[in-house]
Amino acid sequence: MRDGIIAGVLIFLLSAAAVVIVYQSAVSSKLKDALGQLRPQAEYLASLVDLRAHAWLTTRQQTNSQPHTALTQRLQNMRQFYPGLGKLFTGRYKNGKIEIILDTLDPARGRSEPHYVARPLGIDLAPDSPEIKAIQERQTFLSDQPAFQGEGRFLGVMVPLPNPDFSVRDFLYIDSSYETVAAGLVTARKARDISLLVAGIFAVIAGMTVFSWRSQSHFRQMLAVTRLREGEELFRSTYEMSPVAMCLTSTDGRILRANKAFCDFLGYSESELGKLQPSDYTQAEDLKKDQPLVEKLRDHQASQYQTERRYLRQDGQIVWGLASVAIVRDSDANISHYMTQVVEITKRKLAEETLSLSQERLALAADAGKVGMWDCNLITGRAVWNDVMHAIFQTDAKNFAPTLQAQEAFVHEDDRGAVAAEFQHCQQAATPYEQEYRIVRRDGEVRHVKASAIIFKDESGKPIRAVGTHIDITAETEESKELIRAKEAALAADKAKSEFLAVMSHEIRTPLNGVLGFVSMLKNTRLDSEQLSYIETMESSGQGLLTLVNDILDLSKIESREIHVESSTFELRPFVRKIHQQLEAQAYNKELHYDFLVDYSVPKSIHSDPIRLGQILTNLLGNAVKFTEYGRVELSISARPMGLHQKNWEWSFTVRDTGPGIPPEALPKLFQLFYQVDSSATRRHGGTGLGLAISQRLAKLLGGEIRVESRPDEGSEFTLVLLAPRGEQVTAPANLAPPKPVESSPQKVLGKRILVVEDNPVNRKLCALQLKRLGCEAEFAETGFQAVEKVRIGQFDAVLMDMQLPDLDGCGATREIRREEKTGERLSIIALTANAMPEDRKKCLDAGMDDFLSKPLQYETLATTLSKWV
Ligand code: ADP
Repeated sequence: MRDGIIAGVLIFLLSAAAVVIVYQSAVSSKLKDALGQLRPQAEYLASLVDLRAHAWLTTRQQTNSQPHTALTQRLQNMRQFYPGLGKLFTGRYKNGKIEIILDTLDPARGRSEPHYVARPLGIDLAPDSPEIKAIQERQTFLSDQPAFQGEGRFLGVMVPLPNPDFSVRDFLYIDSSYETVAAGLVTARKARDISLLVAGIFAVIAGMTVFSWRSQSHFRQMLAVTRLREGEELFRSTYEMSPVAMCLTSTDGRILRANKAFCDFLGYSESELGKLQPSDYTQAEDLKKDQPLVEKLRDHQASQYQTERRYLRQDGQIVWGLASVAIVRDSDANISHYMTQVVEITKRKLAEETLSLSQERLALAADAGKVGMWDCNLITGRAVWNDVMHAIFQTDAKNFAPTLQAQEAFVHEDDRGAVAAEFQHCQQAATPYEQEYRIVRRDGEVRHVKASAIIFKDESGKPIRAVGTHIDITAETEESKELIRAKEAALAADKAKSEFLAVMSHEIRTPLNGVLGFVSMLKNTRLDSEQLSYIETMESSGQGLLTLVNDILDLSKIESREIHVESSTFELRPFVRKIHQQLEAQAYNKELHYDFLVDYSVPKSIHSDPIRLGQILTNLLGNAVKFTEYGRVELSISARPMGLHQKNWEWSFTVRDTGPGIPPEALPKLFQLFYQVDSSATRRHGGTGLGLAISQRLAKLLGGEIRVESRPDEGSEFTLVLLAPRGEQVTAPANLAPPKPVESSPQKVLGKRILVVEDNPVNRKLCALQLKRLGCEAEFAETGFQAVEKVRIGQFDAVLMDMQLPDLDGCGATREIRREEKTGERLSIIALTANAMPEDRKKCLDAGMDDFLSKPLQYETLATTLSKWV
């Protein structure tokens, strides 16, 4: 708009100026023309003036004098020849003032003033006015501008009139109305006005055109500027907000601009970055690496390059960046700046370093551990082996190109099928491959290897790569074969030892049965006191020998781990009561206060092995009764739940006595084999020093231990602490502890027919004597088959069955007898055996026997047991 107005006004002013100039030149030429006509008139009229007469006229009194009248008249007369004349008079400049000398009447002005000489002009002209100057210098004066004089505008001419008096200057003045000149300028004026109007219109049109053109171009310009600004803004914000760190550097590496990401990357503000030298934020050796790349850019061989370099942050931390560097060239195609984008790769670098470190370590470990490593492309079959692989297969890394096929070719013929099948299976199932097999080296040596591999598949599930290891395990295989052989030998030896011990136990027990049996019989004959003491010594020595045999048998079974814990749920109170009762008689004989306490919180039943538990408790109670001479022996039981779900319970079985106690220094050795605190006391009480050692081992087998507290002369406290679940349901009666000796009732067994199955003649004889003493009728069988046959044809009230028999053993014979029994009938079969282990007892009961008596057989025990079953 403004441009339009300016353009319009300018055009108008220029046009108007042109019009005015043309008009003014017309006016001035008209003026010139008019003055050009007036000047000769004035000069002519001046020539008509008698100069002497005129010079003579100096005062007012000379008015109407003849020279005055004549001169005035002559001039007045001349008017008729110049009709356009206005004023016509002569004047004199004298002493700085102008006086009129001759004056003519101007009809146009209608003036009727008297014409007198030396009348003042009536107009004050300045001394330096052009009129006065012209008069003084006796020059003709032409008024170049129409002068207003009352009635209108006039053009005047003043010509000098010579006067002999040099102090005065005379002149003649005429003027003519300008209106006649102006009338001649009407057309020019009209032309001027029209021209001005046209100029105005033209100016307006031009202004509008300019305005519209300018508007359009301005709009386009504005649009372009806006777009440019938008583009710039977009670029700026993209640059500023870009997550990629960017900076513009000079050719000497100083940072000129940097975006926010770059500032954040290095921890400096943009202005701080501008003050840094390249060495302040990068590493010199990294920059050196860039030189050849920069050369390439300079030589137009590349437009940008990428490099990994370290940057030094403000906080001193070194970070890794992937820098993409591009160059900015000036108009002469020289490099003016570098534009660098940086992506932080510290984590990647660290991961790479860690990876290469771990690869190095792995390689080192592989070499050190003699682990052959391979990587195989399953599509091409080509593989890469490490040196250890070549060493295992005895191949030369330079001349041998490893492939899957070549690897398979080394596999021992007999293993090849299995190896191929397993590898195939692992490829299909994508499970890790692991296999041991043999390889045959080129020199024919057979080696054992352990191969492992992981299979990699592509997206379609096709196996494409396998990475694995091979370890030469020849030495280990040989060693383990050796070990297996040694273990088998050891096991065999152990078994042989156990068998030997069992046989020995059996073989010792059998004659011992005879010895103790007959000693017992002898004791009941008439003897003097000396004979009785010999017999009792024999009996206790025999008993000692029996305990020793039992203990050694137990120990050897524990050591060879032949003892198995067989847990079942059983009611605790009746079970423990029975064990307690076993020693009741012994305690009663010693007049001890013998007690048994069960805490109210103890669950009804326990899940454990009753045989082993019974064995431990019997041993602890036995020791307490054995070593305590005065006071009391007490068995107490408590229990508490363990853990959140109260599944497991901690059971405590404590045997307390007021016996001699154990000195503190002996306590740590108490559970050692054959350890006895006081051998003299032992001699008095008898013992082997094996009971506690066996009990502790059994306790461990049950998941517990025995703890002891004791003070000499005060007593001892042995506690079996056991972790075992409480019993949910009682599955079997805990009838495995030896039965409480009940009072024999000879009347009950009197006249009963008993079949004794026994192959040993001494034992048969002893048994015959004992049964005879009980008033029973005895029948004998020497083998299992004989026994079955005798039961089939004869009538018996009970059978005493040996386990080891020549043809069919005791268990076999029992099973046969039970098989042939009719429903409702049940013959009592009691094992009578030298196989004294709890396992043997179980075996007999499982075979269908009703009770178990181990040799050596006491007369009282036989009586009690028989009276129970007949
Ligand atoms: P044994 O009783 O057959 O000698 P043990 O292994 O059962 O073997 O016991 C080892 C030793 O521990 C015993 O000889 C005895 O000195 C000591 N001992 C065991 N129980 C007690 C006890 N209740 N009071 C005192 N001493 C005991």
